[in-house]
Amino acid sequence: MNILHISAECFPIAKVGGLADVVGALPNYQKELGTNSNVVIPFFNNRFNQEHTFEVIFTGNLQLGETSYGFRILKLLNSTLGFDLFCVDITELLYTEYVYSNDDTERFLAFQIATLDWLLTLKEKPDILHTHDHHTGLIPFMISQSFRYKTLKEIPTVLTIHNAQYQGWFSHEKTFLIPSFDKKNIGLLDWDGSINPLACAIKCAWSVTTVSPSYMEELKLNANGLEALLSHESDKCVGIINGIDWNVWDPERDPKLIKNFSKTTVVSGKKANKKWLCEKFNLDKNKPLFCFIGRLVGEKGADLFFDIFKKSLKENTISILLLGSGHKETEQQLATLNSHADYNSFIGYDETLAHIIYAGADFLLMPSRVEPCGLNQMYALRYGTTPIVNSIGGLKDTVIDIEDGGYGICHDGVSIDKVTAAISKAALFYTDKKRFQKNSRSILSIDYSWSHSAKEYVQLYKSLKL
Ligand code: ADP
Repeated sequence: MNILHISAECFPIAKVGGLADVVGALPNYQKELGTNSNVVIPFFNNRFNQEHTFEVIFTGNLQLGETSYGFRILKLLNSTLGFDLFCVDITELLYTEYVYSNDDTERFLAFQIATLDWLLTLKEKPDILHTHDHHTGLIPFMISQSFRYKTLKEIPTVLTIHNAQYQGWFSHEKTFLIPSFDKKNIGLLDWDGSINPLACAIKCAWSVTTVSPSYMEELKLNANGLEALLSHESDKCVGIINGIDWNVWDPERDPKLIKNFSKTTVVSGKKANKKWLCEKFNLDKNKPLFCFIGRLVGEKGADLFFDIFKKSLKENTISILLLGSGHKETEQQLATLNSHADYNSFIGYDETLAHIIYAGADFLLMPSRVEPCGLNQMYALRYGTTPIVNSIGGLKDTVIDIEDGGYGICHDGVSIDKVTAAISKAALFYTDKKRFQKNSRSILSIDYSWSHSAKEYVQLYKSLKL
């Protein structure tokens, strides 16, 4: 079975968040189950693309409204990714140093049209088109409605919602950009007065998945305006928890770590990584190290970090290290904490540092208000780091509280007091060295790799091909 994943991001080529990790790992795990899963993403101006060689396998011209753009489909040569990587090169629109910007309607519409124009020319078509998030959400509509793509109509489509907050809305004035279709079906594009690519994909895809079962349920109550639609379409919706790539995230072999470790050497291994972090960031290595990695946005609870950290540092003997970037106000507010001896941060994106933090931290903070799946808690577990999470979405599905016989620290809801209380509970847990280290050792073996969830996707594909 030929599966084509169509996405804006794919690790290690272009990564902004968890979407990249999923698209960079899932195809390989699916391949182990016998599918031929490959990926198509835009061709960005980034380091990976500059350092690798691509073969041009197709050239064409696409029509975006009145404007015509030349495009090329590039295939990565000597791919070590495990799957074939195809890139859509539309230099004027997509060859940028960033993945997302504020003219994404045109950029990603052109990406989707070019992808479909290319597929039209293939003798052997994919058996399933697996689209990810709103950037590729018009594909299920175009292949079922646009006259141009009627030969692709029978290909089943799957939409995975990685984050329903972002829906790619644009005005009806731009309808002319979409390859012509029967206007009596224009309602499929619309949700609440605008063209809504995510809503449209929920309506038109053959099957819709979200990245955890709990998130699927939560979306029926809170989906940034799409609650009723998701409830209405619930028969074709399913929550499948994301996995992590055990080849990339392996404490025994991860080349980014200061010191590798296994289940038997976890204590000394984590100690070496923590020492490096504490020296680099001027923190006391004898205090428990609490870390956060991620986007500094409201969804992650970042607007409360300043108050949470201040209170927690006052009430406990701990260190805090933050890696991330996002809202400028939050960044500025947090910068004022830098003078505190037990707090430090790196504002920016650093993949290597993230790996060392997962390995060297004692606790990973995830006070997210919305967390469709969350990968960080799974990376933390894999590296023997105890997660502290708000029990929602994927966090609820993957982290069990120590008081319930589990291995993490969970709180219900996000407030300064609730998160601070969870941090205090963790600080106390840390003082019971024997129990804390036993926890580190055991969580390292919890299997949240893709092997389980990849099977669920393959079963889903098979059910659509019947
Ligand atoms: P998101 O909502 O951002 O997609 P996820 O938990 O699904 O959240 O995935 C986040 C991914 O991005 C993880 O691989 C995490 O390590 C990585 N990440 C986020 N921010 C940073 C950063 N500033 N530096 C390095 N890696 C980061």
